[in-house]
Amino acid sequence: MTDASASPVRVRFCPSPTGNPHVGLARTALFNWAFARHLGGTFVFRIEDTDTSRDTQESYDTLLDVMRWLGFDWDEGPEVGGPFGPYRQSERYDVYDDVARRLREAGRAYHCYCSQQELEERNEQARAAGRPPGYDGHCRSLNAEQVAGYDAEERKPVVRFRVPDHPIVFDDLVRGPISFQAEHVPDYVLVRANGHPLYTLVNPVDDALMEITHVLRGEDLLSSTPRQLALYDAMGEIGVGSGRTPRFGHLPYVMGQGNKKLSKRDPESNLLGYRDRGFLPEGLLNYLALLGWAIAEDRDVFSMGEMVEAFTIERVNPNPARFDLKKCEAINASHLRALPVDELAVRVLPYLQTAGLVADPATPEERAVVVSAAPLIHERMTTLGEAPTMIGFLFVPEDDFTIDPDDDAKLLNADGVAVVRAAYDALSGLTSWDTATIEAALRAKLVDELQLKPRQAFGPVRVAITGRRISPPLFESLELLGRERSLLRVRTVADRA
Ligand code: GLU
Ligand code: ZN
Repeated sequence: MTDASASPVRVRFCPSPTGNPHVGLARTALFNWAFARHLGGTFVFRIEDTDTSRDTQESYDTLLDVMRWLGFDWDEGPEVGGPFGPYRQSERYDVYDDVARRLREAGRAYHCYCSQQELEERNEQARAAGRPPGYDGHCRSLNAEQVAGYDAEERKPVVRFRVPDHPIVFDDLVRGPISFQAEHVPDYVLVRANGHPLYTLVNPVDDALMEITHVLRGEDLLSSTPRQLALYDAMGEIGVGSGRTPRFGHLPYVMGQGNKKLSKRDPESNLLGYRDRGFLPEGLLNYLALLGWAIAEDRDVFSMGEMVEAFTIERVNPNPARFDLKKCEAINASHLRALPVDELAVRVLPYLQTAGLVADPATPEERAVVVSAAPLIHERMTTLGEAPTMIGFLFVPEDDFTIDPDDDAKLLNADGVAVVRAAYDALSGLTSWDTATIEAALRAKLVDELQLKPRQAFGPVRVAITGRRISPPLFESLELLGRERSLLRVRTVADRA
């Protein structure tokens, strides 16, 4: 069979809609997408939803939602269609039936009647005899009489693929030459006894029919590659697809805590969590790009445009990558700082709305406050989701304003309340209300006159105004909050007995 990689590049991202989309999926999508975009190829998005016991519509919807949030565009696939559709495998069962039948007719697959128990017994015997486990070829050449016997017992056969008896070798795009001994690649099941086709069949069939040229996927799938290559050969023989085999590249494992493989169930795997916390899609993707790839030594932060320009599969590192949430956050923070500040205001808004601090749609007044507050938090944020805590005090109605109990206990003790009283005296007489005037008044009163250190002076006022010990710059915050509300909050603390 000839190699398909000389044709215009066509790659696929083909998740199964089960559970919540995870970090590993996004990394696979990203590498395929960047590869296609770098080479001007086609990025195909296919939904592998033939596992009726695990696939859900909810998961499918979430998957599309997350793909859009991350900013991926696909040239063929759900909702955009394309010449090789449909792109949901659940709509392609007739295709798989047809291929399975033709493989059997050509002798490349056969009916296997073995029961689970028989398979297990023979596996046991093989192990005892020191032979490799796996299907032993029992039904490879049943005669008519044997088949009639099974039929009489009303056994329903599975369809099994006849794997050739020679080693299977290929040149992995990431790992180099790889070879599998024939005895380690037993004949495997393509179609269940109830007629339902399995991943082992549908995935290579669609890769062939959709004329995929490069398969970039996780290392966990490496063991299925020899079987798929053998199936490709057979499909070439019976005229399924272009007759060309894709090149395979297996992306490195991602390790999580304690040097264990990051699992879909680890909380840091959940992509929705990153959106909820307010990661920028470009920040998260930048970090995911580093899980097996590098744009240059000593350079961690880059845009997707830069990645596309630089991405080659040769630079993918076969060694396991380590998932480091702290680094992911730091990279996201860099992307946040790089945003123009009015863009930051736009991105922060939905998080303030979700927290119930700003109406949806926001009023012009609310928008104006967000725009003015954005510069105050721009340098301090790691994720957009921190905005409600950082600047919520500007939006919360006075009746709902609360002070963090810990900060209250620490800073608004008797001394602190006395400071706030002095601050009230300094502020209540001001006729203009801007940062410079506010700062001058507070400094004159608290630092010059009362001889307080800045921290002693401004800490209690900060807690009274923002409700927290840690906040955006104090004088700007006072200006933004406005004279009336600021004086009310200072007064409320000053009036404590
Ligand atoms: N649907 C398969 C999965 O999500 C795709 C495997 C592949 O990329 O070949 O694991
Ligand atoms: Zn059998």
